[in-house]
Amino acid sequence: MKYQLSMLALLATICTSASAAECQTTVEANDAMQFSVKSMEVPKSCKKFDVTLKHTGKMPKNMMGHNFVVSLEADKAGISTDGMTAGAAANYIKPNDKRVIAATKVIGGGESTTVSIPVGNLAAGSDYVFFCSFPGHAAVMKGSLKVGS
Ligand code: ZN
Repeated sequence: MKYQLSMLALLATICTSASAAECQTTVEANDAMQFSVKSMEVPKSCKKFDVTLKHTGKMPKNMMGHNFVVSLEADKAGISTDGMTAGAAANYIKPNDKRVIAATKVIGGGESTTVSIPVGNLAAGSDYVFFCSFPGHAAVMKGSLKVGS
């Protein structure tokens, strides 16, 4: 009986760590204005999906700053434009922008930051994007994001 209980505990531990691993990823950004991934699929089973943005470059954030923003594809242009107006102090995101599903702060070379995507707020079949809202970056620093099965 004691043996069975410890086996169950062990199995539970394994299951927990496996699902946690699927509910997070790391995206790298560099001084060449590039993300390391072009597309991302978020498992539907995750309550939240943690994205760690790692700036592998050396340039400071006022010159080559990067953030990681998630929105519907249709909202990307508007968020970028309003973010530019909001400026660096607002991390190039208009305060309380309801179109933004998740966003990190802007970081410079050598820094990293993490944000949680609330998976329950995403709809399967909708076209989402992730991008960097630093002025001039969104045209190349972008990728598609979908909710997987
Ligand atoms: Zn950027």
